[in-house]
Amino acid sequence: MIYYIINNNNKNKVQLNERKILLIISHPDDECMFFGPTLLFLQNRKNQIHVLCLSIGNESGLGEIRKNELKSSCKILGIDTENVNIIDHSLLQDGPKINWSHSLISSIISDYVTKHKIEIIITFDEKGVSSHPNHIATFNGARHFIHSSTTSSNIILYKLITVSILRKYISIFDLPLTFILKNQTNLNDFIFISSFNNFIQARKAMTSHQSQLVWFRHLYILFSRYMIMNELQLVN
Ligand SMILES: [Zn+2]
Repeated sequence: MIYYIINNNNKNKVQLNERKILLIISHPDDECMFFGPTLLFLQNRKNQIHVLCLSIGNESGLGEIRKNELKSSCKILGIDTENVNIIDHSLLQDGPKINWSHSLISSIISDYVTKHKIEIIITFDEKGVSSHPNHIATFNGARHFIHSSTTSSNIILYKLITVSILRKYISIFDLPLTFILKNQTNLNDFIFISSFNNFIQARKAMTSHQSQLVWFRHLYILFSRYMIMNELQLVN
């Protein structure tokens, strides 16, 4: 795996080895569409990775199929399928017009991190990469948990940085700009860059979501920078 980590040698830096880490996503396929480089990096560092998906992605009635696709995708990404958990809550149904309650998400996260002794949470940022309201609500729920829950005191929250639509679809060519802008990030931010083999692995995970493989998904795989690189920022 090729990767770059800002200030890797600093002793005060958050360590990403042998930790219990929870990725929180909104829909099956978010894990490989957006977080592939992160998951593949973490999986190589002996971390115990959990995935909590807040909906079954049932907007088109394919939820039951998509649950299985998520597990297949996570398996390809090296995640133990016992650590992949999918919520099917009546108030957290898939859809851009459905408002997800931040406090409900926060309480679900609280139960999960307590049960599994999670140390680090990773999720979307306030723009949700694709601006999907469910992604944004997922971030707001995680932030609500960090700021309000008594169980969150030692838990670290990272968000996946959203870039402009122009940068989003120039694949590896966004790399120079990412490095130029890295000086504006702080000590505990991370940039993960996949090797070609990792890109192939993430692509394979994407193809396990057969129900979602419409023509433009293939273009996404080819052109999205999120198939190749991720920037994670610490949420204070
Ligand atoms: Zn999504």
